[in-house]
Amino acid sequence: FAIGFKEIWEVDTDKHSSGDVLHTIGWPLNQGTSGGGFLYHFSDNRIAVGLIVDLNYNNPHHSPFQEFQQYKQHPKIKQFLEFGKRVSYGARAITKGGLHSLVKMDFDGGMIIGCDAGTLNPGKIKGSHCALQSGILAAEYVNNVLNEEVCDFDDIFKSSALYKELHKARNFSSALHKFGFYGGSIYNFIESNIFRNKLPIEIKDDKQDCDSLKPSKDSKIKSYAAPDNVLSFDITSSLFLSGTNHEEDQPVHLKLADAKIPLDYNLEKYDEPAQRYCPAGVYEIIEKDGSDYFQINAPNCLHCKTCDIKDPAQNITWTPPEGGGG
Ligand SMILES: Cc1cc2nc3c(=O)[nH]c(=O)nc-3n(C[C@H](O)[C@H](O)[C@H](O)COP(=O)(O)OP(=O)(O)OC[C@H]3O[C@@H](n4cnc5c(N)ncnc54)[C@H](O)[C@@H]3O)c2cc1C
Ligand code: SF4
Repeated sequence: FAIGFKEIWEVDTDKHSSGDVLHTIGWPLNQGTSGGGFLYHFSDNRIAVGLIVDLNYNNPHHSPFQEFQQYKQHPKIKQFLEFGKRVSYGARAITKGGLHSLVKMDFDGGMIIGCDAGTLNPGKIKGSHCALQSGILAAEYVNNVLNEEVCDFDDIFKSSALYKELHKARNFSSALHKFGFYGGSIYNFIESNIFRNKLPIEIKDDKQDCDSLKPSKDSKIKSYAAPDNVLSFDITSSLFLSGTNHEEDQPVHLKLADAKIPLDYNLEKYDEPAQRYCPAGVYEIIEKDGSDYFQINAPNCLHCKTCDIKDPAQNITWTPPEGGGG
């Protein structure tokens, strides 16, 4: 998985060129973290800027939100945004394991399609198109079943253009996981540009993102620049632009299997990374009655589901919020 951040900006006409696309890899992410950014010029002088940070990073002091704030300071990005106005902010986990991670999409009485199943082509950040294609295949399958034709969804999927595309890109994410950012990037370049995705090699990576963190004592502490409120911002002002809304007094929708784990295990061993991987500041360690206290600010939640994925103890379960809030 990855966590993807996106902001929409309104910029001056002379900074805008409708349809232009900028994709980047690396900076400000370092060797222990792979990912990349994007900047898209939309209609109406709007620009979408974002950073995608792979969730197999190993430094518990790492803050994907702060990396994104830093990303906008790069001269190639800053040149478009610096006199503009930020109008919205959001974050969402991205299912980017590709074909090797795809779940079985059909079951008795239902189907899982799109990003819930994992149909995104990670090499091209091509999620919307692939999700739509999986929906079309599902509709074809359901139509066949309703017309009492004997058919198997696997057969429909495996003979589709979507399957061929995902098969070509099947090693993209696992190569980055196995060989790291530089090694994986070199492998992906060679496989796609020299061998044209025809290498009969299967690279699989069974390590879960929740198992990738090193103990905090063995990891470099990261310091991030304070927000300048021009290009970089804090979480509170970002949430204000997220469009999420919850009843303040609804039951907490983020469930802990064991309420002691955040302080007794995560804080001890990993300096409780939830304080930094959550893009909404939901999890805080505060002092209460002279002791550490793990606070869950559930109404802040953006429903990105990163906590459910990255918590090293797999102690947090995201559940849908009450009454369709969010
Ligand atoms: C920052 C970022 C940048 C991206 N950039 C690109 C890009 O440039 N190009 C590209 O093709 N793809 C991109 N993607 C990926 C793309 O957004 C997804 O692949 C695509 O949206 C998946 O479509 P989907 O219909 O499967 O799921 P979604 O778009 O996630 O739709 C699922 C819907 O279900 C709703 N929902 C969830 N739970 C419930 C519930 N319990 N009850 C009711 N409703 C519910 C959600 O609110 C959501 O509207 C990006 C993703 C991110 C996060
Ligand atoms: S609490 Fe979990 S799901 Fe909600 S914003 Fe934070 S990481 Fe995402």
